[in-house]
Formats: sequence, structure tokens, C-alpha cells
Amino acid sequence: MTDCLIVGAGPVGLTMAAELARYGVGVRLIDRAPHATETSKALVVWSRTLELMDRMGCSQAFLEAGLRAPGASIRGGGRTLGHPRFDTIASAYNFALMIPQRDTERLLAAHARAFGVEVERQVELIGFTEACDGVEARLRHANGYEETVQAPWLLGCDGAHSAVRHGLGLAFTGSAQGDDWLLTDVRLDGPGAPPPDEIATYLHRDGPCVIFPIPNGRARVVATVGKTEAGHARPDPTLAEVQALVDRRAGGDIRVSDPVWLTNFRINERKVSEYRRGRVFLAGDAAHIHSPAGGQGMNTGMQDAVNLAWKLAMVIRGMAGEGLLDSYSPERSAVGDLVLRNAGRLTDLATLSNPAAQFARNLALRFLLGLHAVRDRIATTMSEIEIAYRESPLSHGPGAGARWPPEAYAGLPPGAGGEPRFVLYAADMRRGAALTRRFPRLLEPAPRPSPERSDLVIVRPDGYVALAAREAAWDDAERYLSTLARADERGTGAIS
Ligand SMILES: Cc1cc2nc3c(=O)[nH]c(=O)nc-3n(C[C@H](O)[C@H](O)[C@H](O)COP(=O)(O)OP(=O)(O)OC[C@H]3O[C@@H](n4cnc5c(N)ncnc54)[C@H](O)[C@@H]3O)c2cc1C
Repeated sequence: MTDCLIVGAGPVGLTMAAELARYGVGVRLIDRAPHATETSKALVVWSRTLELMDRMGCSQAFLEAGLRAPGASIRGGGRTLGHPRFDTIASAYNFALMIPQRDTERLLAAHARAFGVEVERQVELIGFTEACDGVEARLRHANGYEETVQAPWLLGCDGAHSAVRHGLGLAFTGSAQGDDWLLTDVRLDGPGAPPPDEIATYLHRDGPCVIFPIPNGRARVVATVGKTEAGHARPDPTLAEVQALVDRRAGGDIRVSDPVWLTNFRINERKVSEYRRGRVFLAGDAAHIHSPAGGQGMNTGMQDAVNLAWKLAMVIRGMAGEGLLDSYSPERSAVGDLVLRNAGRLTDLATLSNPAAQFARNLALRFLLGLHAVRDRIATTMSEIEIAYRESPLSHGPGAGARWPPEAYAGLPPGAGGEPRFVLYAADMRRGAALTRRFPRLLEPAPRPSPERSDLVIVRPDGYVALAAREAAWDDAERYLSTLARADERGTGAIS
């Protein structure tokens, strides 16, 4: 039985499929491409994604395959401007995990397979229509056969040119950043090569050049290479051009060799305003694309999937009313806005072309990166551990919406085939046990002791605080859970 048709088996569709299947939801995962990504594309998996992978049950495989980068360096005007460190991030994963996207997809596909999901390749979504209780989708197979599928829910994880987004007629609002960028994966040698676990940014007057470490002794070089007129494609760079560019911007003591990927790209910054229309949802690049500065794109998309999967599972399994789904778009759209803003600012800063502005930027960076607080802020923002859903219709009480410290829920089983559950933390364990008995399908069977003696906290299946209250607020908690549980609750949004 297909409860959800997932279009696109990139990192976001694979995460969505694995999470839904883990919760016992029937999924079909289709992709029009004959094979998974073969290039390195998104390279960084950040702390919050790794924490969520703990809950998914796949973080260990990523940690074994990736390379841990403990920090970065920023150079400009012939000197080092600063060394942001990631080891100050308040997470067990206080580093940037460097792992090529082809490996990310391979590991996620293996993880999804463990829950019985196989990607159906060379199957393309060519159209769909919505009805009140589901979606009718038209799929084209490699041999030209056209299939019509009925599914209660359609999930568009089909990337920047999303057919699902087009089918909904949703505007993808934004703009293109003006530069052409070069990208290559190479080997680096020479006395000037940055340490093999450091992300090195060179802010040159011609434009930025960034070197990222990749496992197995390789490195990614990304740099601006000027502008071409709209509609004109720049030819792929040659190794000699990359060498000349690295010589000029990174100081002349680095030799590049053995390229496996030489390409150009342009940056678009675009987003939909609604991630849901009726029974159709968007996640990942289908909903938001932006500058790769900060390496947030794939991480944000995978977190979209984690956010939606438990909500859909609860609704599909009759544990919660459909009102629960109303929180997905506001929660993730706000995060998308934030990520677009931050990535855009970083890109603007790095690509300043006016020499006076470049001088002022370098001076300011040198001062600011000397301050612990600034370095910590940069690392924390990149790590996505401070993402919170304070304005969400699901958040109730002071502190609600915040990330619940992962140590507090360590040891939760990944829950294969099980149902997602909220967790109750209570100071009064007797009353806590009574509440968990009253809502056996919403709450983990046993309450856990609250870290604060007087607190009553309900934590969502994705590790964010749903309700935070004082001990006397048992009525609030009861009302909150009753509203969630009402299976006929459609579209009311706020839980009060
Ligand atoms: C050169 C490059 C470098 C990048 N570097 C970074 C980085 O350093 N950090 C970062 O976070 N991000 C980076 N990104 C972005 C990152 O790759 C994306 O954010 C990520 O792939 C998005 O995942 P997704 O699953 O949403 O979409 P995608 O990975 O695009 O997957 C979408 C899938 O949908 C399939 N599909 C599309 N249409 C249909 C259809 N009609 N029917 C069936 N299937 C369909 C496609 O075949 C594809 O497999 C980079 C991207 C590029 C191109």
C-alpha cells in the first residue's frame, strides 16, 4: 500500500523515504535518473544533521565514511584574518563532516533499504492532479510505459527544477547572483596547501577562492571566474586555468593535479513561500535554493524531510489529526528564509568588488574573527544547532520550539517500523505516568525525569520542545495532547 509517493531520490527524498518507512508508512520512491549522483556536490554534513541522523539510526556509517574538519581559515590582503573553530559547537558533533554527496546518497540509500525501500530508477513524474483525499500521479517509465498512481500524499523532493512545484504553480521567487563560479575536485601538494582537514577561504581582490577537504586526500576548489551574459554558457575550466587561479589567489605555493570534476555553476537564491498545498508537500531544493556558502543547502533539505516525516507518519497511522501537518510549512519556510539570508550575506561579503570595500571588510574581519564570541557565533550558525521553532503553531510555553539537548534523549531506539512518539519529561513521575497512560499512542510509555525539578516538558519525535510548562500546568499538557490526538482535526493549526 503506497501512503506516500516520493518524487526524487536525492539526499532529501532518500531521507524522507527512510524516515517514513522507519515509522511503518508505505512509500514509493521514484527518480527519473538512471543512477544516483556520481559527483561530490554537497560536501558538508553539519552537527544538527548528524544529531538527527542519530535518531534515524545512520550517523555511525556517516562518521566512518567522512572526514572531520575541526575548523576553517580565512585569508585576505596577504595575511590570515582568522581561524573560526568548529570544536566550540555545543554538540557531540563539533566538527564539519566532509563527505561527498555521492557517498551521502549511497549511505542513505542503504539505510532506506534496511527499511525495505528501493529507489525505482528511470521513473519520471510527468503530471498529477489533486483530489480531496489524495493525488493521482502520472509516471513515465524508461520503456515509455505510462502508469497512473493514486496516493494519499505526494512529496516533491525533486530538486531545483521540481516538476511537483511546477505542477502546483508555485512561484520560486528570488534572483540569480551575477558571478560564474568554477568548481573542481583535485589533489593539492606544495608547501602552501592548507592542512588536509581545514576549510580554507582566500579573499582575493579578484574574488574568493575556497578550498574544502574531501576524504581520500582530495580537495574541492571553488572560485569566482567573472561574469558572462545571461544565456551564454562558459566552457568548463581546464586544469591549467585552475592552477593559474589558485596561484594568483592562494599564494603560489600550491600545485593542483589529477582533477576528477571540472565544471562551472551559477548561484540562484530562490524559495517558495508555501511548502504545502493540500496533499502535496515540497522539501529540499524543490522548495529553496541558495548559495553554497556555509554548506547549508543539503543539510536544510534533509532537515525538512525529518520535520515532515514524523508528522505525516502520525497522521497516516491515525495517531494525530491532520492539523499537525499545518506546522510543516511555517516551521521550515522560516528556516529556509534564514538560511537564504545568511548564505546570501556570506556570498555578498566574499564577492565585494570595490577595493575600498574589500579593504574595510578585511580589516573588520581581522578584528571580529579575533573575538571568541564572533567565532563561536559563526560556528554555531553553520552547525544549525540553534534552529528553533519558537513561532510554530506546535510550540506552547516559554522555551518551546528549542532543540532539546540530544544527551537528554540519548539511548532512544531508532524505532524500526515503530511509531513516532513524543517524550514526556516530568518532575512528578506519578502524574507523568498517569498522563502517558492516558495518551499511549502519542507519548513514549514511560515518562522521563525532568532535568529541572519543577518542569514539565513534552519533546517532539524530532527532538524539539513541543510544550514547556511549570509543574502546575498538567491541564495545559492534557489539552495540548488532546488537540493533537483529535483525528478529525483538519487545518486548525494552533495548539492551545
Ligand atoms: C555543483 C554543486 C555544488 C554543491 N555544493 C553544495 C555544498 O557544498 N553544500 C550543500 O549543502 N549543498 C551543495 N549543493 C547543493 C546540493 O547538492 C543540493 O542542495 C542537494 O542535492 C539537494 O538535494 P535534493 O534531494 O533536494 O535535490 P537533488 O539532489 O537535486 O535530487 C532531486 C532528484 O529528483 C530527481 N527528479 C527530478 N525531477 C524528477 C521527476 N519529474 N521525476 C522523477 N525524479 C525527478 C532527480 O533526478 C534527482 O535525483 C551543491 C550543488 C551543486 C550542483
